[in-house]
Amino acid sequence: MANTFQFIQDLMNLIRQEEELCCNNAACFGGFHAKLVSILLAIVKLEQTFQTDANFQNLVLEAQKYQILSGSERQELLNKLKTVLANFDPTLKNSGIPVAYTSNKQKINLSVQYLKGVGPKKAILLERLGIRTIEDLLYFFPKRYEDRRNLKKINQLTAGETETFVGRLIYSEILQSKKGMTILKAVLADQSGQVELVWFNQAFLKSKLVKDNFFLVTGKVKKNIFETQVVVSDFEILNNLDEAFYRSITPIYSSTEGLNQKLLREIISQAIQCYGGALPENLPQEVIDREKLFNRSQALQTIHFPDNWSTLEQARKRFIYEEFFFLEIGLAAKKQVVTRRKGIAHLGKGRLLQNFYSHLPFTLTKSQQKVLRSILKDMESPYCMSRMLQGDVGSGKTIIAEIALLKAVDAGFQGALMAPTEILAEQHFLNMEKTLKLLGVTVTLLTSSLTKKEKEERITAIKEGKVDLVIGTHAIIQEKVLFKNLSLVVIDEQHRFGVIQRSKLQEKGMNPDVLVLTATPIPRTLALSLYGDLDLSIIDELPPGRKPVLTKYITEDKRHQVYQFIKNEIDKGRQAYIVCPLVEESDVIQAEAATKIAQYLQKEVFPELKVGLIHGRISTLEKEAIMTSFRDNLIQILVATTVIEVGVNVPNATIMLIEGVERFGLAQLHQLRGRVGRSNHKSYCFLMGSLQSKEARARVKILCSTNDGFKIAEEDLHIRGPGEIFGTKQHGLLQFKIANLITDVDILERARSGAFAMLAKYPQLAKQCKNLII
Ligand code: ADP
Ligand code: MG
Repeated sequence: MANTFQFIQDLMNLIRQEEELCCNNAACFGGFHAKLVSILLAIVKLEQTFQTDANFQNLVLEAQKYQILSGSERQELLNKLKTVLANFDPTLKNSGIPVAYTSNKQKINLSVQYLKGVGPKKAILLERLGIRTIEDLLYFFPKRYEDRRNLKKINQLTAGETETFVGRLIYSEILQSKKGMTILKAVLADQSGQVELVWFNQAFLKSKLVKDNFFLVTGKVKKNIFETQVVVSDFEILNNLDEAFYRSITPIYSSTEGLNQKLLREIISQAIQCYGGALPENLPQEVIDREKLFNRSQALQTIHFPDNWSTLEQARKRFIYEEFFFLEIGLAAKKQVVTRRKGIAHLGKGRLLQNFYSHLPFTLTKSQQKVLRSILKDMESPYCMSRMLQGDVGSGKTIIAEIALLKAVDAGFQGALMAPTEILAEQHFLNMEKTLKLLGVTVTLLTSSLTKKEKEERITAIKEGKVDLVIGTHAIIQEKVLFKNLSLVVIDEQHRFGVIQRSKLQEKGMNPDVLVLTATPIPRTLALSLYGDLDLSIIDELPPGRKPVLTKYITEDKRHQVYQFIKNEIDKGRQAYIVCPLVEESDVIQAEAATKIAQYLQKEVFPELKVGLIHGRISTLEKEAIMTSFRDNLIQILVATTVIEVGVNVPNATIMLIEGVERFGLAQLHQLRGRVGRSNHKSYCFLMGSLQSKEARARVKILCSTNDGFKIAEEDLHIRGPGEIFGTKQHGLLQFKIANLITDVDILERARSGAFAMLAKYPQLAKQCKNLII
């Protein structure tokens, strides 16, 4: 069966090429006739349906006469063949693309050694470039191109430039410099003049410099009054003086020692000629048509050997699209598998929710209402929810999570909320317990710092269903924790967790609904590709009355003015955070540094106020006590490390001073700043530290100019790149050969909708495609 599909694919491709290129010529495309007949016979051999089909037999007979048919007869035959073949399987009908086409895993698995000029030695060198098979080679795209269409004459070379030119070798010699360097010199001439070429310490090249041969040379031009000299960086012998051969847009590959550009170019050209056509088209024809993409073989030829810049652009576009398409079709498949999974329909009476709404101290923003509607709708449906709730810091995601959790309890199930830090889990627990106790909902906290006994008690209660909601850190995903009937999992600050953790918590229920919250505003495009299997809801407004946090860089000499400003604000009743410089290497040193700062501030600067201290080395119990005192304004100034970076919510704190700003990343700074500006009071963020590095200056500039997390995330992406932000190792997804998430955003979006549409049309593809991504 699979074989027949393979044959049909091959044939469809062949036919397509033939139609495009040669159908009306006397000659036909690359041995088309012979291939056509042999594939048809192979199909007949394999498939009973075709053996008994007289109509098909006739077509085979006709095909054997292909060479003597006229253009229109040929076209007619090909049309008939296409129809018959397309009818072989229903998935072929509309797209013209058999099922297996949606996999990019098909390879021309032939070793590169099948190419002329590639022996075992060269094969090893090629392997260093990651090239083993002919397909690898075909997909080894140039790193840049050189326009050699208008080569300069020797008398036109410009001093200081790197130029490429052609000439005849007149003379060469090896010299020794006084310092012991060997210098290889040669003279090259064209009709316009002569130029001296030099190589340093490369005497071994001498044997290649045969007199009267023509050379194409690239190098840096130096001129003095007497002569023009070129320090050669690359050269090749032109055995073939056919101008078209070297006067072209020439691909330059990233290479390795022992493999020169010329050789790479030659074997790639050979691979394209011999195998390019055999590489089956891997994008659906309807997509190619709609997007006006080059087909695969045309694009391959062009990306390596472009005729001009605009066709090159077309070829690049085709491959960028291809890369994104396979990413997205994998995500679409994964999503389809997940969302079609039977889940829990939450069909409670809604009494709990009504009750909760009537006690809400504020009205939800329009944005919050909108995302809430989607979430509740998802929860009511009998399928699994996988939804990401994205919203800038302070946009009010917690309340939405809380309502969703209540919805689960209202329907008679258990819910779980996982947060990345103990401080945050604790804060969620305290807030939710306070409000939900009144409604008769039992909430419990599960962190790793509980005593063994406490933990066991709580785990038992969870298992027996005596607890409605469990809030905790990753302690929740420990094996021992079992739920009675978990139906909703919420993960706060999702980007802090890995994918594995997400799925572990999911495994604890019977296909529970999953809601992930993220405050790190990932640009939409990145969210689409990273979490493309999730539905996306965005809260795009802040609660009413929020003012942007005024952000300012302060030089060291103004330090005391800042302290004075903090004092004044505290006199008005506000509170402040002072964030210590980041020490990434060591917790202990970080803790020591923070302690020193706190002591100094308490003694020397704010003796009349209460200065608190919080860092990673403080026990959980103590942390809790400190956060409670800060919340209750018993502490006015909290000296902190990044333990407060995510989620912490003390609305009365309106000032933040960040020390050593140069040590923090942009996203991190935005998160930290998000701790203030959480009420209607005007808030301030002061940045101090050294701005010696360009990057630090850039970060500070962006931070001072906007409070918009989405803009900041875009900028961060520009500065650091997605690999750096998300760790390329973790996200094999983000390693593209040619596509670029930042510059090719519009193609990504098109590929995404193309892939999703494709899967909607042919849902049966999902099974094949979900393996495309990890
Ligand atoms: P984040 O999205 O960063 O998790 P939170 O959920 O912690 O933000 O909300 C920040 C603050 O805004 C909290 O004090 C919360 O009670 C408050 N809040 C949330 N929604 C609203 C609203 N619609 N109106 C007024 N305040 C709100
Ligand atoms: Mg939050």
